[in-house]
Amino acid sequence: MAAKEIRTRFAPSPTGYMHIGNLRTALYTYLIAKHEDGKFILRIEDTDQERYVEDALAVIYKTLEMTGLKHDEGPDIGGPVGPYVQSERKGLYLDYAKKLVEKGEAYYCFCSKERLDMLKTNSETLKRPFKYDKHCLHLSKEEIEEKLNAGVPYVIRQNNPTDGSTTFDDVIYGRISVDNSELDDMILIKSDGYPTYNFANVVDDHLMGITHVVRGNEYLSSAPKYNRLYEAFDWDVPTYVHCPPIMKDAHSKLSKRNGDASFQDLIEKGYLKEAVLNYIALLGWNPEGTNEILSLQDMIKLFDYTHINKSPAVFDPVKLKWMNGEYVRKLSLDEFHSLALPYYKGVITKENIDLKKISELIQTRIEIFSDIPEMVDFFNELPDYDIEMYTHKKMKTNPEVSLESLTKSLPVIENIEDWNLESIENTIMNYIKDLGVKNGIVLWPLRTALSGKKFTPGGAFEIADLIGKEESIKRIKIGIEKLQK
Ligand code: GLU
Repeated sequence: MAAKEIRTRFAPSPTGYMHIGNLRTALYTYLIAKHEDGKFILRIEDTDQERYVEDALAVIYKTLEMTGLKHDEGPDIGGPVGPYVQSERKGLYLDYAKKLVEKGEAYYCFCSKERLDMLKTNSETLKRPFKYDKHCLHLSKEEIEEKLNAGVPYVIRQNNPTDGSTTFDDVIYGRISVDNSELDDMILIKSDGYPTYNFANVVDDHLMGITHVVRGNEYLSSAPKYNRLYEAFDWDVPTYVHCPPIMKDAHSKLSKRNGDASFQDLIEKGYLKEAVLNYIALLGWNPEGTNEILSLQDMIKLFDYTHINKSPAVFDPVKLKWMNGEYVRKLSLDEFHSLALPYYKGVITKENIDLKKISELIQTRIEIFSDIPEMVDFFNELPDYDIEMYTHKKMKTNPEVSLESLTKSLPVIENIEDWNLESIENTIMNYIKDLGVKNGIVLWPLRTALSGKKFTPGGAFEIADLIGKEESIKRIKIGIEKLQK
């Protein structure tokens, strides 16, 4: 018999941004399916949404497309078990809830807001988690009919036992048992007729043939209740994979609310999507071996969800930056250049500066693209700088030595006719050789005068070549003037 096809789903709520944790869930969900040649499904969970946010949907589609997590079924491409947007499935949940009512596994509840508020206040006073007191469970059939006919607003609640226990298995957390006395009779259908997430996720996962349910561990405490729903319907229980949280530090979770970066934020900051995806994959999972640089194809091959780490992963911005640098260096010069172009805009305004040459110089030196403006601005405009920058112990230079050195180099440089990297380098190196001094005595002051910076991509020759003869001479003269003061 052929093995059952693996079907997983990514089920985001349209919130308007893709949190790093969400993207990791999407990635793991995708990898579980693709590792086994299965199907990856996109379902939009919008029943708790006050309003339908069109832009929020666009963020979800865009992120999946950018990262290459291509879904096989979903709202935009359809599929055999649609619709794939929960609000468009609204009609079907009530019938399923009614089936549970018939079986005694759920019941109508007509309690007013005032009564529920009172119960909540009571549990707060007693410092106990809120639990509905099953008040409406005991209504007779006639009483229920009467209220329904009179149009009294109602919800439908799950009817959980108060004794015994419920046990289920999670791939990451193992076997979990909870006392049924802890299970609240959660709402399945709300008074507006919409299902709660708690109900819809079970019905939809079943109807969509989902074999592996992957989500954040914040849902772990509700999982016993979901498990009871599957059992009440006599449906196969899926394999649960609850992923541990991603932490910002030892105490707090990474969260958009705390101002932590979303996927879009990272892209806007100049991270490469491939690097972000690669880094995120490692937040909770490691391939065997030491190579951590993995393409999506590598991940599909290597991913083993049974090896997801139980302990929370800590988001390490330094490692992400390092990894991004690795990806930046793997780009071809043309690819790098076209990605770098927007970052030169507004910083390099002089037209004679060859941006491609700058790209060549900086590709190995940046980790993220937003490092660029600060690294290259001096090509355009000499910054104001302190003459202390001419002091360098190892190069044996100080302002005095530098003044002499620059004054002597100036006519040599003025005499270069054919201004290109090779001729600049040859002329100056020959001049240094003739003088019989250490390179640094000439080159340190020169680079300082040309850039006004302590660290620069490229040395004196590259900078001179890039900014041109006229500008180079102008900057050397400014240096001499500064040093004479
Ligand atoms: N809509 C839920 C969320 O965005 C998904 C939970 C699940 O995957 O079951 O958190």
